[in-house]
Amino acid sequence: MNKKNLNDIWVSGKKVLVRVDYNVPMDKAGNITDDTRIRATIPTLEFLLSKNAAVIIASHLGRPKGKIAPEFSLKPVAKKLSQLLHDREVLFANDSVGPEARKMAAALQPGQLLMLENLRFNPEEEKNDPEFAKQLAGLAEILVNDAFGVSHRAHASVHGITKYIPAVSGFLMDKELLFLGQAVTDPVHPFVAIIGGAKVSDKIGVIENLLNKVDTLIIGGGMANTFLAAQGYQTGKSLVEADKLVLAKELIATAKTKGVNLLLPEDVVVAENFAADADHKAVAVTQIPSEWMALDIGPATAGKFAAALRGAKTVVWNGPMGVFEFDAFAIGTEAVAKAVAASGAKSIVGGGDSVAALEKLKLAAKITHISTGGGASLEFLEGKELPGIAALADK
Ligand code: ADP
Ligand code: MG
Repeated sequence: MNKKNLNDIWVSGKKVLVRVDYNVPMDKAGNITDDTRIRATIPTLEFLLSKNAAVIIASHLGRPKGKIAPEFSLKPVAKKLSQLLHDREVLFANDSVGPEARKMAAALQPGQLLMLENLRFNPEEEKNDPEFAKQLAGLAEILVNDAFGVSHRAHASVHGITKYIPAVSGFLMDKELLFLGQAVTDPVHPFVAIIGGAKVSDKIGVIENLLNKVDTLIIGGGMANTFLAAQGYQTGKSLVEADKLVLAKELIATAKTKGVNLLLPEDVVVAENFAADADHKAVAVTQIPSEWMALDIGPATAGKFAAALRGAKTVVWNGPMGVFEFDAFAIGTEAVAKAVAASGAKSIVGGGDSVAALEKLKLAAKITHISTGGGASLEFLEGKELPGIAALADK
């Protein structure tokens, strides 16, 4: 990527606004239940502090819908960040713009940290309002975008603001651009993509784009049922998108034309109903009982998919192979995750549920790069230009 990053600019003594994605999960008492997203930005923050920049942090949290909502306050996040930085002081402004933020930002000294309140308390953030963007920009001299997960949206803090101050990528963003960028522009072959999850309709763009790049495309999960139905198999009560049958047929034909090895399930685990304790069994795709539903790939399919991953040099994976939330139907996803790990390929996983599945199976550490942006990583894999990334300064 021909975009500037932290190493391309002078930050010492400068006021730097860092856009992060601190949209962390919290319990009802307001305790942060997973601080991964905060930890992931520490290298960028420590770099800036070590260079004596005055650091202003901006983020969103949850969906306050443009209104002040105490349950979405970033105050607990500021406290957590302070702990993670060995009790370094993190000042806090009660709004992201306005007199208080302006005053605190103006008084901020090199080596100090200031966190702004939730950007989305202001409706202007998501509307990419120019006046709001200008006010945000007025707090600092440089924007560092380390929020890959929101960069597929033209919001004021990642897009509009760059009309007023220059933007560069932070270290976390660099990692995303490096791994995802390499996979879509310059992958080492053999390149295998694994696409699963609930619906074909969510991932048409990704499948179409990856068909131009991969050697093998593996399709599992709920969306595989639509492909099976398109080929004339009876799929019982499985999740099938009836309006996507023609598309599925076309995608199968495209794969053939492009010489892509397209792999679909040959057996599935069917269940009597959609429940954790449902009666279930593995059957060939020719034998799906009319009253049952396919909730996972079967053992023969898991073996076939694993074999296709052997020797892969690049793997992109989005979407679980089954209803992994229920242990009985997490087996296919686990088998594929283990095969990805065993392949030794550079592996890239995106998608909220895919990451959740890997964490549940305790296999996340085996993946080369876990993308921090669900929707953003999908759009990247679709080959789309992401507004927040396009807006970064060119090298
Ligand atoms: P990601 O968030 O990784 O992009 P998706 O949101 O597309 O993944 O899909 C994840 C969901 O798909 C999970 O909730 C999972 O239960 C569901 N799913 C996977 N396989 C099936 C299936 N055979 N039938 C119904 N739902 C499925
Ligand atoms: Mg999902």
